[in-house]
Amino acid sequence: MGAVHQFKNEPSDAAKKVPDGLFVDCPYCHTHFYEKQLGPNKVCPNCGYGFRLTAQERLEQIVDKDSFREMDADLSLQNPDFPGYAEKLHKAQHDTHLRDAVVTGTAKVKGQTVAIGVMDSHFVMGSLGTIVGEKITRLFERGLQDKLPVVLFTASGGARMQEGIQSLMQMAKISGALAQFQEAGLFYLVVLTDPTTGGVTASFAMDGDVTLAEPHALIGFAGRRVIEQTVHEKLPADFQRAESLMEQGFVDAIVKRDELADTIGRLLKLHQKSEV
Ligand SMILES: [Zn+2]
Repeated sequence: MGAVHQFKNEPSDAAKKVPDGLFVDCPYCHTHFYEKQLGPNKVCPNCGYGFRLTAQERLEQIVDKDSFREMDADLSLQNPDFPGYAEKLHKAQHDTHLRDAVVTGTAKVKGQTVAIGVMDSHFVMGSLGTIVGEKITRLFERGLQDKLPVVLFTASGGARMQEGIQSLMQMAKISGALAQFQEAGLFYLVVLTDPTTGGVTASFAMDGDVTLAEPHALIGFAGRRVIEQTVHEKLPADFQRAESLMEQGFVDAIVKRDELADTIGRLLKLHQKSEV
């Protein structure tokens, strides 16, 4: 993954004289521009790449004002035993004000009630641990119980290494709840955001009834270098980007960030269960 996320190392001489924080580099096209040019949606003005958002920022962009009701807000891992893991979690909780790497709840999007989950890559790379698994499982259970569509924004570095096999078991647990949800004929909309990788891609990120992605989002299972070393070939530049996944049929549409809420609203309306 590192190879495609290299930042341009040498800013221009003019940029070097400007205090930190005023300029940013686009991780995709490496254009150098004023941070304020990102705008409220945090999108590269050159290529349309959507900078990584916090769960809070994402919810503000997508759900109707004051409609979000968080579920399982206090769920957090008790007594993690992997060396250094408790400290890592504590720091992530302090830095992000989250308990773990996903926020779930109910909300309205363009007037329609949904069960919604947003993964946050700022919390231990959005990795899939027990708490993330439990919250997403409960999100599908809530959708099933209340007959609500589920909208899920994925962002993940993959498994939570510190939780070992427990982390991998979350894929099966979520997939079980998702299967019951889909058997009931309910609608699951997934939005793949940068980065969606590893076990998350190998399970619920690819099971949506409709799969959207943000422009240039990195979406894959194994990292680029691992694959290059295995197949002994240089991979194309757009390998594991949303655009190539769409060409291969894994993604239904790539939607610009400022059109996402409207698009989700339209899709929810189209998939509404008729009252019989
Ligand atoms: Zn760009």
